[in-house]
Amino acid sequence: MVAYDPNNIFGKILRGELPCHKVYEDDKALAFLDIMPRAPGHTLVLPKSPARNMLDVSSDDLAHVMSVAQKVAKAAMKTFGADGITIQQFNESAGGQVVFHLHVHVIPRKTGEALKPPASAKEKPEVLAEHAKKLAAALA
Ligand code: AMP
Repeated sequence: MVAYDPNNIFGKILRGELPCHKVYEDDKALAFLDIMPRAPGHTLVLPKSPARNMLDVSSDDLAHVMSVAQKVAKAAMKTFGADGITIQQFNESAGGQVVFHLHVHVIPRKTGEALKPPASAKEKPEVLAEHAKKLAAALA
């Protein structure tokens, strides 16, 4: 198992060195919008602890991240008028992971609408800001 590298992009966001469109934060987790959403409202939920992925995170931190993902999923159903939610979580390159700080994808879905391909297009910052504001309000 490769050791956690604090210079990953989500580590920088967690330390406030890079910006994000935050939707939720508590003492153990942070949630913000994916900048290349596969559907409107696509959110990432991270533990604040330095975990590379599901293979090294503590079970307590993983449980907390999943409980935040559930809160985000429920709020996103209302905020984005979703019919369902897709949860994704990737581990190591072979498992599809690109950023090596554990994160859970929460993706609102509408009936009959396919997901955009991964990392296909950056959403406009003003759209992300508006979505983050609405979702954060639903989570407050
Ligand atoms: P994966 O590691 O495969 O789960 O993919 C990383 C995800 O992070 C992709 O969905 C990217 O669109 C997303 N992403 C990459 N950089 C940023 C960033 N600075 N802020 C928000 N999301 C990001």
